[in-house]
Amino acid sequence: VTVSNQWIRRVLAYLRRQPAATRSELIEGTGLNPACISITITALLKAGVLQQSGEVHGQSGRKRQVFRLSPEAALLVAVDLEGTSVRVGLTNFLVDIRYRWEERVSFRCELTTEDLIRGIGHVLGGLTEAERGRVLAVGVAHTGIVDARGRVTAVNLGWSDFPLEEELPKRLPVPVFFDRSGNCKILAERWNGVAQQSDNCVYVLAGIGIGMAAFVDGHLLPAEHRLGGEFGHLTIDPGAADRCQCGKRGCLEAIISSPNIVRQYLALCGHVAEAESFPADGVYAAARAGDGAARQVVARVAACLGLGLSHVVTLLNPDLVILGGDLIAGQDLLIPGIRAELGRHCLPQFLKDLEVKASPLGLDSGLRGAASLAFRGALENPQLLAKLVGAARA
Ligand SMILES: [Zn+2]
Repeated sequence: VTVSNQWIRRVLAYLRRQPAATRSELIEGTGLNPACISITITALLKAGVLQQSGEVHGQSGRKRQVFRLSPEAALLVAVDLEGTSVRVGLTNFLVDIRYRWEERVSFRCELTTEDLIRGIGHVLGGLTEAERGRVLAVGVAHTGIVDARGRVTAVNLGWSDFPLEEELPKRLPVPVFFDRSGNCKILAERWNGVAQQSDNCVYVLAGIGIGMAAFVDGHLLPAEHRLGGEFGHLTIDPGAADRCQCGKRGCLEAIISSPNIVRQYLALCGHVAEAESFPADGVYAAARAGDGAARQVVARVAACLGLGLSHVVTLLNPDLVILGGDLIAGQDLLIPGIRAELGRHCLPQFLKDLEVKASPLGLDSGLRGAASLAFRGALENPQLLAKLVGAARA
């Protein structure tokens, strides 16, 4: 009996979210029968994709075999195109970052395919021939909106219908997987961050723009739902003068994106400082120091974000809301205000088990997310699965 791709997928997807598992945990966690699990474990051990070790388990104190993913089974390349930095990382199979390269770019820089190839070249440059052969796939996390042909419009990178999904794969020897930053980041939270125990969670990030992603019953809401793009343009303050990039007034993005937080603060306190030289976390620091104008802006940001999230919570009933991007820097100030607003607008049963937490992954969340995307894409790609376990099949 030969091992099927479906069995391999289920075992790898299960182990991706567990530090280790016994044979019986694998049977229960994947829904496969004991014979299939045995065949799959044997094949994956032989290919070096799994490792086994004896560990004391349970109350009996007996030693049992546990299985875990082998960190060196493959290498993944991660590209994070959020904000005004290009970050490229090389990770192992567990998406631990081994090398990273970062370049600041100017806003609306018109980033080229050549720039991306150069960045990827930097992290692959130090590898031996054998290590290069173990690079399985590339994951790219980007902002903006994607059309049906994979053309990306992203203001921060100066892209308007940029043919990213057509051009980049032509220049690389391994498959490339693309998704928006929010989706990649929530994948990273499910694997390495705060959402490891959650099948119903929502991720919201603010930076130059607003992003959102959600897992519902363990499934990532597909990109076609455009949840991220739309969330920032919910009308949150209908009478407000705040003008949004989309042309409307009173959008959530026009109030809580980082440039808009700074704009409101500078306007309130009459500063003439250049908004670009003043980061959003400066407003949080001023609020902590007791600055009245900063406190007023932060209170409005928390209230508007809380109101926007109350609609999402009412529609999707998550057990966890994760704050990412520049919101992380203001978590201590924002979370109480968000919770108060959720309490005002949501039915109590939606709030009973709801947690609001900031992402613990920091600047690496984009890279880890892009690598998680590459891992996830590789599982769905028969050629890549064959490359991963090829030795055992031959
Ligand atoms: Zn808008």
